[in-house]
Amino acid sequence: MRTRVAVVGGGSTGSSILYHLAARGISDPLLIEKGLSIASGQTSRSTALVRTHYTVPVVAKMALLSYRVFRDFSKELPGYDSGYVETGLLIGVDSGYEQSIRQNLDMLQKMGIASDFVDERRVKNLEPFLDTSGFSSVVYEPNMGYAEPSTTASSYASAAQAMGARVLSGTSVLGIRKTSGGYSLTTTSGEVEAEKVVLATGVWSVAMFRQLGIELPVKPVRHPVAIYERPQEFRGLRPVVFDFLRSAYYKPEGQGLLFVGSMEAELDASSPPADPDGYDQSITFEEAEKFTGWTTQAYPVMGEKGRYERGYSGVYDNTPDQQPVIDELSGYGYEGVFCLVGLSGHGFKLCPEFGRVMASLVTEGTFRDYDVSVFRLKRFETGELLKSRYSLSTVG
Ligand SMILES: Cc1cc2nc3c(=O)[nH]c(=O)nc-3n(C[C@H](O)[C@H](O)[C@H](O)COP(=O)(O)OP(=O)(O)OC[C@H]3O[C@@H](n4cnc5c(N)ncnc54)[C@H](O)[C@@H]3O)c2cc1C
Repeated sequence: MRTRVAVVGGGSTGSSILYHLAARGISDPLLIEKGLSIASGQTSRSTALVRTHYTVPVVAKMALLSYRVFRDFSKELPGYDSGYVETGLLIGVDSGYEQSIRQNLDMLQKMGIASDFVDERRVKNLEPFLDTSGFSSVVYEPNMGYAEPSTTASSYASAAQAMGARVLSGTSVLGIRKTSGGYSLTTTSGEVEAEKVVLATGVWSVAMFRQLGIELPVKPVRHPVAIYERPQEFRGLRPVVFDFLRSAYYKPEGQGLLFVGSMEAELDASSPPADPDGYDQSITFEEAEKFTGWTTQAYPVMGEKGRYERGYSGVYDNTPDQQPVIDELSGYGYEGVFCLVGLSGHGFKLCPEFGRVMASLVTEGTFRDYDVSVFRLKRFETGELLKSRYSLSTVG
C-alpha cells in the first residue's frame, strides 16, 4: 500500500490530523490504527473537558481556537458532530493562587477569553450546591463545556474519508525504516510506503520512539476517575468545577452523573510508568475513598444523598512540563517524520488546532499563524521548558 502521508494512531489527535490533511488537498492520507475502531485508545477514556483557562499563552490561544471549533463543530464539518455541551467552568482557588490567577486573567482577557472573578452571590446563582467556604476567590469562565470524545474523533475520521482519506484499523505499525522515496512502515497488514509519516500514538509513543532510537521523555501515568450518581435536586446541566484547594475537578455529566478526578500530574509521583497495555483500568478502594472525601466536602449534598456508582482509570502521557511535543524529527535523522505526542492529560480539547497545525507543518514545512517551535522535542535537552503560572501544572 502507498500513501503520501501515513498517520499512525486514530485517537482525537490522529483523526483531526487526517481530516486537516485531506482538507488541505492531500488526496490519499492513510490513518493506521491498531485498535478495531477509531478512538479505541485513551480518547475513549477522556472526560473531554473543553476549556480555555491556560497559563502558557500559546496553549491558551490554541485552546481558544479549538473551543470555537467545538462550539461550531457542525458548521466546520457539516453533517458531523462533537457532542459539545456548554456548561461554564467555576475555578475555586485559595489565597496561594491569588496573585498568579490575577495575572493570568489579565493575560486571558487580553486574548479575548471571557474569564473573571465572580462574587459569592453569583457563584451561588451558578452552583448553589458548591461549598465555597475554603476558597479565597472563584473565577468563572462561561465559554467552557465538554464534548463526546469518541464521536469527535469518528467525525474527523469520517469527514476525512469523505474527502478521500483511508482508515486502516486493526493494524499495528511494528517498525519504520527509511527508503529512497520516504519511509516504509512494517505493519500487521503488510508494508506501507509513505512519503511522510505523522506519529500520533499517544501513551504508546515511548515504544514507538524507542524503535526509532529516540528516548522520548514521556511518563505514562495512570489516572483514575470516580463516577457518582447525583441526587434529584442536584441533577441537570451544571457548571464544571476546578477545585484548586483539593486539586480536584468535578464534571457533572448529562443529567445525573458526576465525574471526579485529580488535577495533579500524578496522584503518586513515586509510582513507576504505567504500562499502556497492562495497567489497572479500575479504580482502587483507596482512590475512590479519597475522591469521595473531596466530593462530599465540595458538595455537601453528595455526602447526604449522593451515591458512588463506579470508576475507571486511563493513562496520561506526561512530559516534564506537561505540554505536548509538536515537531518534525529531522534533528534526529528522520526528515519527514512528524510527531504530536506527550499531551499530558489535556490533549483532547486541543485536537482541532493540533490537526490544523500539523497539516500545515506536513504540507508547507511551517505553520505561520503563531509560533509552535516552543513545542519542539529538543526543549527537554536544552532546558527551555514551558512554564506554568500555577504550581498545579496540569492547568498549564
Ligand atoms: C481519564 C482521562 C481524562 C482526560 N480528560 C481530559 C479532559 O478533560 N480534557 C482534555 O482535553 N483531555 C483530557 N484527557 C486527555 C485526552 O483524552 C488525551 O490527551 C487525548 O485524547 C489523546 O488523544 P491521542 O489521539 O493523542 O491518543 P489516543 O486516543 O490514545 O490515540 C492514540 C492511538 O494510537 C494507536 N496506536 C498506538 N501505537 C500504535 C501502533 N504502533 N500502530 C497503530 N496504532 C497505534 C492507539 O491504539 C490509539 O488509538 C484525559 C485523559 C484521560 C485518560
